[in-house]
Amino acid sequence: MLGFAGAAQAQPSSSLEEQAYSRAAAVEQKLIEWRRDIHQHPELGDQETRTAGLVADHLRKLGLEVRTGIAHTGVVGILEGGKPGPTVALRADMDALPVKESEGLAFASKARSTYRGKEVDVMHACGHDAHTAMLMATAEVLAGMRENLPGKVMFIFQPSEEGSSLVMPGQNKLWGAQLMLEEGLFKTLKPDAIFAVHVMPGRSGELSWRAGATTASSDDLNITVTGKQGHGGMPWNTIDPVVTAAQVISGLQTVVSRKTNLTQSPAVVTVGMIQGGSAPNIVPQQVEMAGTIRTYDENVRAQVGRDIKLSAQKIAESAGAKADVSVVPAYGTTINDEKLVAQMAPVLGRAASGKVAPAALVGASEDFSFFARQVPGLYFFLGVTPNGQDPATVAPNHNPSFFVDESALVTGTRALSGMTVQFLQSREKKS
Ligand SMILES: [Zn+2]
Ligand SMILES: [Zn+2]
Repeated sequence: MLGFAGAAQAQPSSSLEEQAYSRAAAVEQKLIEWRRDIHQHPELGDQETRTAGLVADHLRKLGLEVRTGIAHTGVVGILEGGKPGPTVALRADMDALPVKESEGLAFASKARSTYRGKEVDVMHACGHDAHTAMLMATAEVLAGMRENLPGKVMFIFQPSEEGSSLVMPGQNKLWGAQLMLEEGLFKTLKPDAIFAVHVMPGRSGELSWRAGATTASSDDLNITVTGKQGHGGMPWNTIDPVVTAAQVISGLQTVVSRKTNLTQSPAVVTVGMIQGGSAPNIVPQQVEMAGTIRTYDENVRAQVGRDIKLSAQKIAESAGAKADVSVVPAYGTTINDEKLVAQMAPVLGRAASGKVAPAALVGASEDFSFFARQVPGLYFFLGVTPNGQDPATVAPNHNPSFFVDESALVTGTRALSGMTVQFLQSREKKS
């Protein structure tokens, strides 16, 4: 069930939706200029002050009620339509990544900043510059038709989707969406639906989505194996945590391959870091490992966590060593609301002029999941690979050469505006 069928059906759009599309066309040039400006001045998570300033100025000029400084640098604008009705929230993320941009673009980033205590180069390598610009454009589109809008629109420009650049290793992490909610974002005005778009390799201007689980949950895995230190030439007098760690890593492979019901939901267990030892002829006392766990289902997520702990502990025990295992939850799975997907599929089809495709499960995680856990959400993708290039081989998100075909961006604004108008009208309070 991909919630995809409706997209192909040609349903008539409302005159408001048509109006949104022509307004989107009129704002396209500005959208591209904003995107270039933000791209050239990327800011890391929780440092997005310049970007937030641009956004807040823009929203104020449009006559929105604007709040700033939410979750450090977040900005929220409320657009009051001329008629009563529900509230739609639209979300863009503003943060960049500690990546050094490849040369080539006239507006390539030369920015440097501090990421978790280290000096780094900064780049919008995940396309959040495009997200911010598309949502600024959407605000302009919808503000221009406010008298006719039955309800409210909440524009959420969030910081730190990729994680805060200000925390130090080992410190607690709160993602931008999570912190905004903790600060009460939905307490005074709870939206009835929330939408967000993410750019990724794909045919330029193509929209893709799926119903239900979309992006993975993400849990941090830490394992410390403790043995008994001693001489490398006399291992019988030691308990070797290096050999034990190797067994633990091999053993963990069976958690997914032998214990997880993969017909129910996929899962990934990756050990990405291993550290231990100080000299070739010393069996060390400890080996530390860290990794990540990805799933698409809360039951599978809990089970995988339990199985990892049990396997690691018992394998270590069999060697006379000890494994301390922690599984720290980071993001949940982004779940697209099935009813909302069914309702919005035709709009997405029209917004993309029929250029649509079903989305595959995404192995990355999204802090949009925090919003979508509180209100029905729809998170969809916009292809930004230039014509003539193969989306399967171009530089992916987070790569120094990640490239956004700007001609695709107006489609994102069409989709966000069209869905908002459609949702508001469907729940319009007729008096
Ligand atoms: Zn990213
Ligand atoms: Zn991203």
